Amino acid sequence: MPEGDVVWRTASRLHAALAGRPLLEADLRWPDLATADLRGRTVLEVVSAGKHVLARLSGPGGASAGPGALTLHSHLRMEGSWHLHATGERWRTARAAHAVRAVLVAPGWTAVGHRLGMLDLVPTAEERTLVGHLGPDVLGPGWGRGGARAAAANLDADPARPVGEALLDQRVLAGVGTFFMAEALFVLGVTPWTPVGALPDGGSDRLVALLHRMLAACRTTPFQATTGDTRPGHRQWVHARSGRPCRRCGTTVRVAMVGTAPQERTAFYCPACQRGPAPTDDGRPQRPLGAAGRGQVARPSISS
Ligand SMILES: [Zn+2]
Repeated sequence: MPEGDVVWRTASRLHAALAGRPLLEADLRWPDLATADLRGRTVLEVVSAGKHVLARLSGPGGASAGPGALTLHSHLRMEGSWHLHATGERWRTARAAHAVRAVLVAPGWTAVGHRLGMLDLVPTAEERTLVGHLGPDVLGPGWGRGGARAAAANLDADPARPVGEALLDQRVLAGVGTFFMAEALFVLGVTPWTPVGALPDGGSDRLVALLHRMLAACRTTPFQATTGDTRPGHRQWVHARSGRPCRRCGTTVRVAMVGTAPQERTAFYCPACQRGPAPTDDGRPQRPLGAAGRGQVARPSISS
């Protein structure tokens, strides 16, 4: 699933291509939105908020915000993506036409949204109905102006909660998914099942600062790398590496679920490098990800 860095980059590219330009055509292939007429509205800006993309549009026929301004909100969910094509040229893409959910045509560039997980059109003044539940955005403009402290305070508000579960809760902080959760907790040396209140020195402040550094470093690269080694196959410490040897100690990296149903998500970890509670390990070897069926993911019977 795309995480905050990918969504930030997506919004940034859409902004560079569309901001300041009027929409010549807009085709929203989504229930309730198919009849929306956005022609003539100017794209004012495209920004990310956690894993959400907000394209802010002027009022009808206008070039600035004000009454009638609208926000086109999208969420990439598991496999959504936005792509840019030169306006008027044939889309050179292998992606299926039936998966197109939105087409925004502007002079110069056409943005095409594929397999979007959410698409909404709301008055810009009512954006909060869509993203108001989000905690501080790890890559948002407010991060350095109190956002980081607020995110740490949100974590600390529930000291008994497993830290991996808390980091994936977008109400606590926005933008972190299973990749950065696993990687940051490896670097910090604690398992995803460690209670927030038992984090090592520096606690949640240190953890949110680490996450910000990781996401910020990845937002301008076309791939996610947390090890400092950008070669394919060497970019992450533990994420998606179950069954393979830990890069630091050689112990087999494991995967189990974190969170409570139906919100459970996979968490990868090294049982030797990361201290703290972990699901009971039955000692069976875990095959590398992709080779294993779902039944091989250990259930979260937490022990310490
Ligand atoms: Zn290790």
